[in-house]
Amino acid sequence: MANVKMVWCLKNINDKKQPVYIENMEKDTYEQEYKGKLTCIHGCDARIKFTERKNGIKFYSTWNNEGDKHSEDCEFHVKYKGKVGRKRLMSDEEKRQITEDQIKNAIERKIKNLKYKFIEVNGGKDNQGTNSIENTGVERAKVSSGEGESQDLNLKRENVTSIESSLVNSTYIDRRKCVYGDINNVQYDYSEGNELYGYLNLQNEHYKVSVYFPPAFYNNEDINEDELKRLLDILKEEINVKEKKAMVVCFGKITFKKKKHNEFNINVINPLHIKINEMSIKEILITKSIKEINYEVR
Ligand SMILES: [Zn+2]
Repeated sequence: MANVKMVWCLKNINDKKQPVYIENMEKDTYEQEYKGKLTCIHGCDARIKFTERKNGIKFYSTWNNEGDKHSEDCEFHVKYKGKVGRKRLMSDEEKRQITEDQIKNAIERKIKNLKYKFIEVNGGKDNQGTNSIENTGVERAKVSSGEGESQDLNLKRENVTSIESSLVNSTYIDRRKCVYGDINNVQYDYSEGNELYGYLNLQNEHYKVSVYFPPAFYNNEDINEDELKRLLDILKEEINVKEKKAMVVCFGKITFKKKKHNEFNINVINPLHIKINEMSIKEILITKSIKEINYEVR
């Protein structure tokens, strides 16, 4: 476990969970306000403690004997009899065949969860009676039945775990995850071999995090290179020029961008593994625009 660096956790104050980055935690505030109230960033029950050494080095770690309170899919999970370290977890994850259905479900579930949160925060009243809002109204009863536990339940149930783009860091290298977040900017270019590649730059204060479309994304029967270029042109117009709010939910392997240690890519290799403002790639290509959404990442 020693090689897993935990740089985020959740503070649980007045039933609200908020992520706290390690560099924003101070010893005094921790002792006075947060001790016993920090839990795993992935929503697991395991409590997190904060340590600041005399040399200024800060770290988060799981409370003693609570390693097994992390969800089994969580990289901080520890089984006390026959320990499971991160390496083992990663190789299990690699071995496990994630089915297309599981990926599709994870993306749909994440979109729904993002909507519920919006409804809960805003009381579900001030909205435009669209289909999506009606649906979330029904679902909401389920979600709020156990305070704060919906996320934990989801984590235990799903094989594909999700993470917000602003929380991506080196802990997640080589993991396949559902990643979601706001798109700040769209770019594309051609390699020396004249292959198109595209990026959607996502929200993250500390690193450059992008959805990356490698040639594998478009060299298949669902989408060709021309269509990807058209898609990226539409997104550039909608997001870079018109500054429309755009939220992506996608699935892919998180990797370091070559030679750049502060840049991360989410490698999306299948057009069915991504939705932007709830729209599929095909829908965006047909309508040549992205629809408006009225909820936030958190
Ligand atoms: Zn955990």
